[in-house]
Amino acid sequence: MGKILFNPSVMPAANAPSQSAEDYLERIHELIQTKGYARVVDIASSLKVRQASVTSMVQKLARAGFVNYEKYRGLILTDEGRAVALMIQHRHETLERFFSLFGLDAETQRADIEGIEHHLSPDTLAMLADLAAFFEESPESLKAFKQSRKRRPNTQSCG
Ligand code: ZN
Repeated sequence: MGKILFNPSVMPAANAPSQSAEDYLERIHELIQTKGYARVVDIASSLKVRQASVTSMVQKLARAGFVNYEKYRGLILTDEGRAVALMIQHRHETLERFFSLFGLDAETQRADIEGIEHHLSPDTLAMLADLAAFFEESPESLKAFKQSRKRRPNTQSCG
């Protein structure tokens, strides 16, 4: 199996993890960080999918060189898998940093980040990181933005 280098901007789509593979790598990484191991049953309940789906995706991730199964340690991330998982984690944290500026409901924010994070280009993500930094460095701008929203009540919700 060839070495897989993950670089979303230059890598051909065929070798990049799919959006759903990214969800799995993200969750496996989180489980290993928090519990020390990632069991199929925990991945399944965390992603709300069937254990058979987890097994099938884990096999795909293993073939792509992102995870390995070791007898006593269970599922582990390869160096490549860890690099991708860290990129996914960093991207998630960037979005969290950006969205948390605006006082949205925490559960809505989490669900929306999970929904959009795999669809953002590196350029858009970099722009959002810069926008977060801009508002963090300039609280008066953030305040002005929030006040301008209050003057536009009709755009705050379409529901
Ligand atoms: Zn995420």
